[in-house]
Amino acid sequence: MRCVYCNTENETGSKRCRHCGMPLPGKDLRDRKRLRRPFLWLFWLVVIFCAVMILILPRSVA
Ligand SMILES: [Zn+2]
Repeated sequence: MRCVYCNTENETGSKRCRHCGMPLPGKDLRDRKRLRRPFLWLFWLVVIFCAVMILILPRSVA
């Protein structure tokens, strides 16, 4: 497992880099990715809402 900050090779399974002490990518990164999912849904909800408003607004004005 290679550190993304200082490029030092670390033991597989270690949570932190033995050289710089920064957290290594692993389970934590996967959990963060899962947490980002609701925000993606919110983003698409806003996009769909804007698209609907663009389609509806000119008709209601005219
Ligand atoms: Zn490091």
